[in-house]
Amino acid sequence: MRTVVVVGAGQAGSELAVALRQTGFDDRIVLVGAEPHLPYQRPPLSKAFLLGKVGQETLRARAPEAYAKAGIECELDTSAIGIDRSTGSVVLADGRRLRYDKLALTTGGRPRDLRFGPDDIAGRALHTLDDALALRERLRHGGRILIVGGGFVGLEVAAAATGLGIAVTLVEAQPRVLTRACPPAVSGFVEREHRARGVDLRTGVSVRRLARRGGGVLAELSDDTEVGADLVLTGVGIAPNDALAADAGLAVDDGVLVGSLAGTDDPDIVAAGDCTRQWNGFLGRLVRLESVQNATDQARIAARTLCGKPTERFAAPWFWSDQYDHKLQMAGVPQAGDTAVVRGDASSGSFSVVYLRDGTLTALHAVNRPREFTAGRQLVTARAAMTPAEAASEDIPLSDLMKRQQRIAERTI
Ligand SMILES: Cc1cc2nc3c(=O)[nH]c(=O)nc-3n(C[C@H](O)[C@H](O)[C@H](O)COP(=O)(O)OP(=O)(O)OC[C@H]3O[C@@H](n4cnc5c(N)ncnc54)[C@H](O)[C@@H]3O)c2cc1C
Repeated sequence: MRTVVVVGAGQAGSELAVALRQTGFDDRIVLVGAEPHLPYQRPPLSKAFLLGKVGQETLRARAPEAYAKAGIECELDTSAIGIDRSTGSVVLADGRRLRYDKLALTTGGRPRDLRFGPDDIAGRALHTLDDALALRERLRHGGRILIVGGGFVGLEVAAAATGLGIAVTLVEAQPRVLTRACPPAVSGFVEREHRARGVDLRTGVSVRRLARRGGGVLAELSDDTEVGADLVLTGVGIAPNDALAADAGLAVDDGVLVGSLAGTDDPDIVAAGDCTRQWNGFLGRLVRLESVQNATDQARIAARTLCGKPTERFAAPWFWSDQYDHKLQMAGVPQAGDTAVVRGDASSGSFSVVYLRDGTLTALHAVNRPREFTAGRQLVTARAAMTPAEAASEDIPLSDLMKRQQRIAERTI
């Protein structure tokens, strides 16, 4: 009997284990997870779950019985601490060794640690279900929260906390929020919405030091102002969990290095999800993607590779964020030098930003335009031709441009 061990029972690990069965792997599958929970979805942790709108059971990646039904052995609350490639085994924290014929690494990432003197205060992170349960409980008691970092998680927590009646201060060191992920028009919209709802949002400002004061903290900021808070949350991104791979001698560079078929430099080991830095066939470059869509797509690709049925997928990466009643959706990854064209009125609360390069659509960011996003995502994947005038004109629905693209594709075939 052959054994596949999957290390990391999160979004990618769950998907990979199930996809192995669906792709015809009949032998033993063991899913090892450091957390005590069955695989769950993280996105609601900073949104509906924090607001108390959905319960823990709705977070599950799959129903508990699905694993037993698929014959997947779950070893939860168990960390893998080493990989012995010479014997083909994974060493667990409790001393056991799991022999593998093939190994999958889906270890995700961990929040970047940021500590502030003089009391070496770290601030809370929001990454796991246990983090969310603790934060939700803490927010129930009211008070003031200081959020360090204007990325998606920080902004989503700001929206949820505001909804719960908490006074929120958010500081972002860059001149605008979402600098890495979004164009200025989207950042501007997000900043206006947060401020309109009472968030004290400060950009271009960082925390110089945190000191304990009474039951809370006093933050000294880089602009010489001070902010008092009962609670500090740090949301400054994640680092990939790639130490296991690095210690085993696999190629690692800010993530486990994998090709477009999710293979590492060991033919018996694949990796998927947030822990990887991948050669992305669609983007034509090495990237680290942190999204549900990437974790699930890459996991399915990895399962096919392990089953000897390698299949590359060329689709635009996409991501979403919910803040208040606004939906932000992004497809593709814009690059420096792309031309950004705003479609619609950025102050209206419903608009898109279309990115073009050499007459081709490369990315689309939609604010409260889910239908436009659906067509736009397909156009980005199709690398559709588009002029700046077409991109800007709301008289030409993107769905029409998609139909044109389909006609061009049919003629090409
Ligand atoms: C609060 C929050 C909100 C988010 N919102 C969105 C969103 O709106 N849209 C979106 O697309 N994405 C969102 N994401 C990102 C998305 O959840 C991740 O990209 C996705 O979960 C990645 O899946 P993964 O399986 O690679 O990693 P994870 O889901 O993080 O799973 C990795 C698992 O591996 C385990 N593990 C690590 N090391 C070991 C070890 N040595 N032994 C055993 N187990 C180990 C970890 O404990 C973890 O359970 C959000 C993330 C967070 C934290």
